[in-house]
Amino acid sequence: MTPMSTKQEQLDELNKKMLACSKCALRSGCQRVVPGEGPAEAEVMFIGEGPGKKEDEMGRPFVGAAGKFLDEMLGYINLKRESVYIANVVKCRPPENRDPLPEEVAACWPWLLEQIKLIQPKLIVTLGRHSMERFFPEQKISQIHGKALRKDFPEIGKQVIYALYHPAAALYNGSMREVLIKDFKKIPKVLEKIKEEK
Ligand code: URA
Repeated sequence: MTPMSTKQEQLDELNKKMLACSKCALRSGCQRVVPGEGPAEAEVMFIGEGPGKKEDEMGRPFVGAAGKFLDEMLGYINLKRESVYIANVVKCRPPENRDPLPEEVAACWPWLLEQIKLIQPKLIVTLGRHSMERFFPEQKISQIHGKALRKDFPEIGKQVIYALYHPAAALYNGSMREVLIKDFKKIPKVLEKIKEEK
């Protein structure tokens, strides 16, 4: 990487490194690494938990049923999928979609920190409990969903984090689905407020 490289080039470079990663055992059990996708200049970064079956096949985040629901909700707020960054806490699919082990999460965490440092999103939207817990280990999603919270992290500085329920969990749960959609629709206002305060 030259000192002159653009943010996008640096992100492409980072993606290449993730594609070559075998720091934990998940890589040997999955088909493809799913680094994430979206422009380096994205204002909003969504962070899910980890690739599922479809994502593993395609090498892209949120392309299965949960992804369709995410696309639908992006449509409600007129945000183009191509304008946001979508990543996951772990970049490789855990076998049978089990929860990633603490050592797998720990091995993958530096990649996510690098992504955040480079992209510097105005707003981070966590999808699901596991993603939220990476930023607020002491909190409960039932209490903080739909609230924009500021926190200063040693590695990535001050961030605004907005926790949402996971689209896959809400897909077939009527009341959770309603809450998720309601929270999701608040994203433009949250973003506007962040920009005003800058
Ligand atoms: N669920 C996630 O958390 N991430 C994906 O990429 C797909 C489904």
